[in-house]
Amino acid sequence: MKICALIFVCAVCVIAAPALHAQANEQSRAMNQPVHPFHIIGNIYYVGASDVTSYLIVTPSGDILLDGGFAETAPQIEADVRTLGFKLADVKYLLNSHAHLDHAGGIAELRNVTQAQFVAMEGDVSALESGKSFPAVNPDRIIHDGDTVSLGGVTMTAHLTAGHTRGCTTWTVTTEDSGKLYHVVFVGSASVLPTYRLIDRPNSPATYPGIEADYERTFRVLKSLPCDVFLAAHGSFYGLTEKREAMAKDPAQNPFIDPAGYQAYVVRAEAAFQTELHHERGE
Ligand SMILES: [Zn+2]
Repeated sequence: MKICALIFVCAVCVIAAPALHAQANEQSRAMNQPVHPFHIIGNIYYVGASDVTSYLIVTPSGDILLDGGFAETAPQIEADVRTLGFKLADVKYLLNSHAHLDHAGGIAELRNVTQAQFVAMEGDVSALESGKSFPAVNPDRIIHDGDTVSLGGVTMTAHLTAGHTRGCTTWTVTTEDSGKLYHVVFVGSASVLPTYRLIDRPNSPATYPGIEADYERTFRVLKSLPCDVFLAAHGSFYGLTEKREAMAKDPAQNPFIDPAGYQAYVVRAEAAFQTELHHERGE
């Protein structure tokens, strides 16, 4: 995928922001098309839209739901969970990749419906609670880098990968499929939005103090994570549509097992960040 596509997909986070709690605009509607839910691997299911993702992680003691899409994605996610034969009342934890309207917009509604505990990284709490660009939602538990959420023998680990937002979180989990163990990485986002400023200057302040160092640390973290199964907050980051179609054609293959695709994504995202940094430095 080209770098411009990375920028395009997350540009909606900013472009659509002034439309307070409104329906997704034309650009974001394209990312929010209904998709038939499906089994990805092990205990992980896809319940998201065409590009804004949502994942159901199933355990013997209840389920974990990662990301809520736009506000109007929530009913779609609810229908997808039911279509797969799971119960919304079994969702015990709601997790979030980051506090932008295309990933956190549906959390308030999903929390209402499931009565699940909403778990969020400290850096994103004020954005989640403010309700500025999506329905406000107060976390039930505030976490920090390295904290875990455990349920029914499944442990999800939260890695702070800040920059895209202050509390942007990459979740990891190990899953078993056909007797094999796989490291799964759910990338938050490492995109630099067109409106972001990375360098702090008197007449052009950084998007937030320390954003440049946060991104640099994020790329170190992403490179350090073992990854067999590559998933992310946007389907376009990892070729969701292509992989879904490939799996439907040949169920014997699982294209979501893609360690090389993960490494390539990290390289691409870091290159885009470096390009932006050079641009700001006037190089
Ligand atoms: Zn975003």
